[in-house]
Amino acid sequence: MKPRVPVVDGLFTEDAGPPALLGGRCPRCGSVFFPKQWSFCRNPHCDGGPLDDTPLSTRGRLWSWTDNRYAPPPPYPAGDPFEPYGVAAVELDAEQMIVLGQLARGTDIGRLQLGQEMELVVEPLFEDDDAVHTVWKWRAGSVTG
Ligand SMILES: [Zn+2]
Repeated sequence: MKPRVPVVDGLFTEDAGPPALLGGRCPRCGSVFFPKQWSFCRNPHCDGGPLDDTPLSTRGRLWSWTDNRYAPPPPYPAGDPFEPYGVAAVELDAEQMIVLGQLARGTDIGRLQLGQEMELVVEPLFEDDDAVHTVWKWRAGSVTG
């Protein structure tokens, strides 16, 4: 079996069981950032830092979605060759921040409802001779309301 390798290092973890996105939390003001691209707090009213690694909520509410036909900009990884896929913007339960991600394989875009529960999954994005390259995605949870 080929090893599972994240497409981008350090954005999510599967080490501790269920997959979780890794963000950065400012030890001074508590602001949480994702992706953790910068070492220091970006809150303009705070000079805190460096940021602590922190796992983010694995569930959230569907805020927006689209049928994506163009490769996303970094750091959001795309397969090569690029295949169109759904993209969801999900508001994380605890952090109330918006995190983009592809929709999980098999998601029926026509059945998505604004505000429905979404959960984080990690799925293969593409495979080469050495490894299965994985990325986080959003899967539709139970529809409420
Ligand atoms: Zn701060």
